[in-house]
Amino acid sequence: MSFTFKQGQSNRSRRFKWRASMLGLLLGQALLLGAPAIAQNTEEEQGLTYGELLGKVERERVEKFVLDPETNTATVTLKGQTEEEAETIQLLNNNQELLDALKDNNVDFEVVPSQDNSVAIALFTNLLLIFVLVGGLAMIIRRSANAQNNAMSFGKSRARFQMEADTGVMFDDVAGVEEAKEELTEVVTFLKEPNKFTAIGATIPRGMLLIGPPGTGKTLLAKAIAGEAGVPFFSISGSEFVEMFVGVGASRVRDLFRKAQENAPCLVFIDEIDAVGRQRGAGIGGGNDEREQTLNQLLTEMDGFETNSGVIVIAATNRPDVLDKALLRPGRFDRQVTVDYPDHNGRLAILEVHARDKKVDDNIDLKVVSRRTPGFSGADLANLLNEAAILAVRRRKETISMPEINEAIDRVIVGMEGNPVADSKKKRLVAYHEVGHALIATLNPNHDPLAKVTLIPRGRTLGTAWYLPDEELGLESRKQILAVIESALGGRAAEDVIFGADEVTNGASQDIQQVTKLARRMVTKLGMSELGQFALEGNTGEVFLRNDWTTQRPDYSEKIAGAIDEEIRKIVFEAYENAKQIIRENRNLLDKIVDQLIEQETIEGDEFRRIVAEATNSKVVLEKQAIAS
Ligand code: ADP
Ligand code: MG
Ligand code: ZN
Repeated sequence: MSFTFKQGQSNRSRRFKWRASMLGLLLGQALLLGAPAIAQNTEEEQGLTYGELLGKVERERVEKFVLDPETNTATVTLKGQTEEEAETIQLLNNNQELLDALKDNNVDFEVVPSQDNSVAIALFTNLLLIFVLVGGLAMIIRRSANAQNNAMSFGKSRARFQMEADTGVMFDDVAGVEEAKEELTEVVTFLKEPNKFTAIGATIPRGMLLIGPPGTGKTLLAKAIAGEAGVPFFSISGSEFVEMFVGVGASRVRDLFRKAQENAPCLVFIDEIDAVGRQRGAGIGGGNDEREQTLNQLLTEMDGFETNSGVIVIAATNRPDVLDKALLRPGRFDRQVTVDYPDHNGRLAILEVHARDKKVDDNIDLKVVSRRTPGFSGADLANLLNEAAILAVRRRKETISMPEINEAIDRVIVGMEGNPVADSKKKRLVAYHEVGHALIATLNPNHDPLAKVTLIPRGRTLGTAWYLPDEELGLESRKQILAVIESALGGRAAEDVIFGADEVTNGASQDIQQVTKLARRMVTKLGMSELGQFALEGNTGEVFLRNDWTTQRPDYSEKIAGAIDEEIRKIVFEAYENAKQIIRENRNLLDKIVDQLIEQETIEGDEFRRIVAEATNSKVVLEKQAIAS
């Protein structure tokens, strides 16, 4: 931000210099005006040349000769001409020959100095100079005064948010994110028929948070809500709030909400809210005052506007983890909707949406395109079809056909951050890793039920297995934590068993960190090891609260430190051996599920449990099915 401001500054000074040289130019012109004005004057009226005049004098054709010494011109009346027809001629510096001829021929000779306009010209020039100087100065002064004013009313005058009266986007234009759409249809009703809710005494939520990676359609969804509800759409990006001057962001927030309230019902969309909404005071070595003020103002506004005022705020981020907790409290952004990378079917639906307004060859099967584009976001897919269309035009084709699609896929992949897994050996390894997690979690009665396992790359991960946490009980038992450790090690265990100890990859690094943390917590905080029920460590990670983190010392002796390490090691080793054992025992099942996952990309929790239950005849697995659904 400071960069853009500096740029403005230098622009201004450049303009200033330019102005100064303009001034110089004007002055030069003004000075020049004096001299050549006369020459110009005479030139155009010149009918006779000096030579001709001399000839005419000698041939006694000249009636009258009037010399003006001021301008060194002569007014010549020829014989048979009236005084009005007299011609003016510019003379030379030394006119001796002409004067002699005039005398010899007895021409009527007069000397009449013109009114002295040289004085007038000089005066005029000076006046002009003064005028230009004063005018120029005044302009400069006014400009700098303006600039100062600008600086003072920065936040007030420059509204950086956009308002669209009608976004023209409908839910039909957003595809492949059905769950998110379902959750958001309610917001449309809030905006359209608030009475429905207020009549029954319900409070309409004010804020929603859309969480998801870039290009998955968060902005599009927000626009679609406004479009469906037929309300104005106000949008601003979080980064726009953050300016160099303290207080500017806060005043922008105030402006935005004031405008929104004037236009209620309406929808306010704050993109990249993490730019302002980061945890306050999280930076060691000084926070960002400006950002904190902006965030505080945002919180105040969220609280301030009346319940059911008809303004709904939707914010988007791909970093929910860094958001200040205060933003997520009830009455603020308490509803969260995840917008994720689309799976195979989602991609197909998005391709269909974007193929609507393009001429696509009849023999193109969008299903095939969707299969070939794992990891593509909605934006990538839109881009893909657009690239293909451009290629088709370049090749002078009537419609988009497969060669264009193929080339466009390659182009988009090259431009993407993490390439989707195309290499099949790598993909198999990832599949074994993820299914390893999922299988061990599913077979362990103490583990949360699996929600989904997928090979769709997300950000920097190539696949994921995730679970439905049991939210009701805030309690965790020792065997539950051990189950989590075991399943977290399941990925590495599968790599190890299937591909051999030399082939294991760095893909497990996150898992291993998580495992170490859990095991350490069991030993040092939860009293769940043979070391006994001691709190051996205070709360770590409290740097954010700015307590004296530099002086924190461990609360135990060297000897205990060794014992802690030993306990942690024991827990992890045991869990790992268990995991490997389970993998070995279920090798056939693992292979089968991996094949299916590679084919399908995603396996839902229910389906996964059904497959496992069928193969193992396990009642435990089916019980989980009941919990999960
Ligand atoms: P985000 O805000 O999540 O970064 P956008 O909403 O700005 O993503 O998406 C950019 C463009 O990508 C959209 O304008 C649209 O053309 C396309 N797009 C993204 N997601 C979808 C989707 N789910 N359905 C249809 N088009 C999409
Ligand atoms: Mg966006
Ligand atoms: Zn893993």
